[in-house]
Amino acid sequence: MKVLLMGPPGAGKGTQAELLVKHFAIPHISTGDMFRAAIKNGTELGQKAKAYMDAGQLVPDEVTIGIVRERLAQDDCQQGFLLDGFPRTVPQADALDETLNQLTMNLDAIIDIQVSHEKLIERLTGRRICRQCGATYHVVFNPPAAESKCDKCGGELYQRSDDSRETAENRLDVYNKQTQPLIDYYQAKGLYKRINGEQEMPAVFQDICAALGRDA
Ligand SMILES: [Zn+2]
Repeated sequence: MKVLLMGPPGAGKGTQAELLVKHFAIPHISTGDMFRAAIKNGTELGQKAKAYMDAGQLVPDEVTIGIVRERLAQDDCQQGFLLDGFPRTVPQADALDETLNQLTMNLDAIIDIQVSHEKLIERLTGRRICRQCGATYHVVFNPPAAESKCDKCGGELYQRSDDSRETAENRLDVYNKQTQPLIDYYQAKGLYKRINGEQEMPAVFQDICAALGRDA
């Protein structure tokens, strides 16, 4: 099962990724983890990536794709993998295609978890934190018993500026602009599958397995 998992912030991609890698016993390949591992192991590409990151620069595609190639060539990826957070752009998707060809691999599907804009905003702006003890709540998914008051210590709950509507709108805007060309790219290849992410978590998982033609 060689899958690319996509979804906007707030779509529940992280949770589904965890369920999928466990269910199919495949490695979870996220760019962040790969970078950290390459840097920790001091590989040539890891050192290159670190030099760019230390200088506050974007890591160029050729370095990123090199790190992805090294990872996909490892034994544990031969039966499958779940790619998460890569590719982000069409040139990266092209480079990934070429790499997979070299490794005589194919992607089975691109799974895109979709949630309406308003629902995403609701999810992304719902977090509340206790000023006194730091406990976290969510106004929809994990609400406190009394509004704006911590269940544990009675402290006042507040919203971090990262969780403001404006920040959430910006994040979604950036994501959509960046991702639409990628969606077009994979749709043209006939690999793109859209999943309704507004359902309960187990139902989303079942739909993903169905889209992959596998048992949940
Ligand atoms: Zn508290």
